[in-house]
Amino acid sequence: MSLDVVITTDRTMMSNHHRKEFLGFAATGPPISMPESLWLFLTAPKVKTDKTGRPIEAPYGLRKVEAALIDAGFNAAIIDPDHLYRYVDKMKVLMIGHHDYFAYGPPSSEWWSLTGLEPINRRSFIRFMNSPVIRRAKERGVKIIVGGPAAWQWLYELELMEKWGVDTIVDGEGEKVVVELVDKALKGEDLPRYVYVGVDNAPGVDEIPLIKGGSVNGLVEIMRGCPRGCKFCSVTLRPLRFIPLEKILREIEVNLRAGINGAILHSEDVLLYYADGVKPRPEPLIKLHEGVMKKIGERGSFAWSHASLAAIKYAEENYKLITRLMSEYILNDYRKMLGVEVGIETGSPALARKIMVAKSSPYPPEQWPIVVEEAFKIMHENKIVPAATVILGFPEETIDDVVKTIELIDRLKPYRSIIVPMFFVPMGALKKNKWFLRDHLSIEHVEAMKKMYEHTIYWAEEIMKNYMTSPYYLPVKLLLKYFMSYVKWRVNKYMGKLEEMVKK
Ligand code: SF4
Repeated sequence: MSLDVVITTDRTMMSNHHRKEFLGFAATGPPISMPESLWLFLTAPKVKTDKTGRPIEAPYGLRKVEAALIDAGFNAAIIDPDHLYRYVDKMKVLMIGHHDYFAYGPPSSEWWSLTGLEPINRRSFIRFMNSPVIRRAKERGVKIIVGGPAAWQWLYELELMEKWGVDTIVDGEGEKVVVELVDKALKGEDLPRYVYVGVDNAPGVDEIPLIKGGSVNGLVEIMRGCPRGCKFCSVTLRPLRFIPLEKILREIEVNLRAGINGAILHSEDVLLYYADGVKPRPEPLIKLHEGVMKKIGERGSFAWSHASLAAIKYAEENYKLITRLMSEYILNDYRKMLGVEVGIETGSPALARKIMVAKSSPYPPEQWPIVVEEAFKIMHENKIVPAATVILGFPEETIDDVVKTIELIDRLKPYRSIIVPMFFVPMGALKKNKWFLRDHLSIEHVEAMKKMYEHTIYWAEEIMKNYMTSPYYLPVKLLLKYFMSYVKWRVNKYMGKLEEMVKK
């Protein structure tokens, strides 16, 4: 098989992370306490491919680009990075996507700043770009187009862009613009160095193509954009679009045919699917879950990518909707919990008002800590296990704000969850502000981080024991166990050092 357009990425992205998304998260850290190859096996094992090197499952964003190009009539496909050499002598365009090319996004940048060690996703990507196959492609004059959620990071790495011969950066939703760019590249026309996709050229619902092959862990998109408008977030700059249920179900069928028996519903807030502003509505959510569960069957794995804490509280308080979705549609003998990412960001109502005034909507920002606490309680009672983020070092943050966050983390102790501290990264409306780095830490920041690590280690052990029960996970579990005891030891030691450093 020969291809005009090859779409790919490095191994930390082209993996199903042993079907556990949180293991993929670990690929954003540096390989501590074990060799890099073992860390990679643990966090980003190779995916199965067909005879031609096409992965059985690939990142959803790459699948969308592939679908847009195939629908437009191009000879394009996603190829696993290990099989790229088979196409290098014929391809004309190489497209690369990534969530965090250079580890400048959260939480990679934080691990890097804290440990002083390069995160594994960065190492892996740089190794990939320095590989002979990429050099060979450039020698042949192949056009390289990069994009994805981390496209902005190339603007900090213009020298590498030059060195590796990257022709174009696509910053934003790519489905529409890639067709035009690839057409130009194949005709030998000059390509722009940077394309920003704003509201005007973002694809409408009808212009978002259906994926043609399996997506990692069965991820399917149910909506795009977010109405909450947090100042530190770039998603909020995108228009809000709901994907009709019929399209969602067709993408699940594509995954089932690829042998991926399950679905991760992707949205910045799953509960806002066809919502009334920021107020969840039972009818579309019940229809969605009913339809999806019918498709994946009782043994299919299932998760929500993200949900907002305010929507969880509102849905339960007004309609008992969380209990209903979990007990009637989601939980059964094979699905004993539901994983989801949520954002706490701060425990301070004053800071919430400044940087994320609508995150608590329809409740006022003054109630934000109560919203968080109640949502955690609802999730705990309904076997939803959140992986929550807290951001330290917002531009206008005060010591009192951090103390409020510490108090909130204390109150979340009884609830099964993972809480990950992140350092502020300048994005969205705050992109002109400074990065928050280790040198900026106060004693309160260190205390907040310590509390979060303790909370997470306690609950991670419980989650592993009760929820990773299949024998398939035994080697991964053993390695994780070893890693957790190492982390416990290291965190205590490291936090002590940080405390000393900050006091000086
Ligand atoms: S709620 Fe989440 S996705 Fe929406 S704007 Fe805020 S941070 Fe971004």
